[in-house]
Amino acid sequence: MLITHAAVATFEAEPRLIEDGALLIRDGKIAAVDTTTALATRYPDEDRLDADGQIALPAALCGHTHFYGAFARGWAYPGPPAADFVQILERLWWRLDKLLTPEDVRYSALVCLADAIRHGTTTLIDHHASPNAIEGSLDIIAEEVVSSGLRASLCYEVTDRDGAARAKAGIAENARFLRRMRQAPHPQLAASFGLHASLTLSDATLADAVAAANGLETGFHIHAAEGIVDVEDSLEKSGKRVIHRLHDAGILGPRTIVAHAVHVDDDEMAVLAETGAWVTHQPRSNMNNAVGTGQVEALLEKGVKVALGNDGFSNNMFAEMKTAYLVHKLAQGDPRAMSGDLVFKLAYPANAQLAKLFWPDQKLGVLAPGAVADLVLVDYHPTTPLTAGNLPWHFLFGYEASMITTTISAGRVLMRDRRLLTLDEEEITARSRELAGALWKRAA
Ligand SMILES: [Zn+2]
Repeated sequence: MLITHAAVATFEAEPRLIEDGALLIRDGKIAAVDTTTALATRYPDEDRLDADGQIALPAALCGHTHFYGAFARGWAYPGPPAADFVQILERLWWRLDKLLTPEDVRYSALVCLADAIRHGTTTLIDHHASPNAIEGSLDIIAEEVVSSGLRASLCYEVTDRDGAARAKAGIAENARFLRRMRQAPHPQLAASFGLHASLTLSDATLADAVAAANGLETGFHIHAAEGIVDVEDSLEKSGKRVIHRLHDAGILGPRTIVAHAVHVDDDEMAVLAETGAWVTHQPRSNMNNAVGTGQVEALLEKGVKVALGNDGFSNNMFAEMKTAYLVHKLAQGDPRAMSGDLVFKLAYPANAQLAKLFWPDQKLGVLAPGAVADLVLVDYHPTTPLTAGNLPWHFLFGYEASMITTTISAGRVLMRDRRLLTLDEEEITARSRELAGALWKRAA
């Protein structure tokens, strides 16, 4: 396939913007990037997709999300509004996830996958919970990831909050799915070992998880120091701050993802840097839960690898980027904080490097020969000069994700002219509404 007449933003280390550019896609990968004239002359018989002056840019990636949370949208959970982070967990998320049936798990994932295609996010790292439908839950999600045409890494969040049997079942589900991925790898799927957070995990369960992960060549995917309560709980349980407790338990390493790390001190940052663990930043979630602002710039300065997630907010990663761009300025009282190019570094090169843990053979986040053909076409017509250098600010101030008309993953067109081609969006929407309504009734 030859995509023609696009302004191609390559997002390479030396970014280029090719006016009236073209992309040749072969076997799911980008085979050539050049002007339309050059590639149309060289490949006259190739199937064409005319971008008609739209901007072509790499598809977005998400470093931390929760497909299980889709039915919370618009839900007035019973009782008074949560007054702090623990109450948000108890009244909203831990009530919702206990009510999920296998069919709910499927449709909640489908809603998020459709949303991801619509917003041009093709690579997602998910963290799943359904305490009353644990065994096989990752297979259900995997099935729909494959049918969507997207790419996702999956795990189950192990926790002690629902008793020892469910903690064991969570460990077993991670180990089972990790083994499945080793025995039958799939280019759209990957696995990690999920853990909820220090505050819901005993030393014994952490040790069981580490033992179960042994030999599976995996890291862990865990929330850490998201709220101050996680720090207080860790100090009380172990006399150590969260990152030290997790490090001593054998959780940290270059394949581990630590979501949030809002409340970490200098020593903990040094441990994160030494172990090579990833931190993901989710500013919309941090603001919504009123837990504080992730210390992204301090972490980076200390040599910690930081990527960008959405924590189950919409898969519109541009909304997450815009929030990151804005909140750090407010929090630090400094308009120079979190520059536009730094936001882009988190969202593209850092997220692509994180994705390499799970898909080592797939080059993501750039439009260059040899990269996987994951891209979007954006119907954005700038009213000021657009260059490769000022592109981040155009996208932070001008671009809206609703301007995405076409989403392509591994060369497969998943959305064309805003119509989803791999998922039946009408059916998903209708069934999701029924299932979410029924779940809300059960909660009441
Ligand atoms: Zn999360």
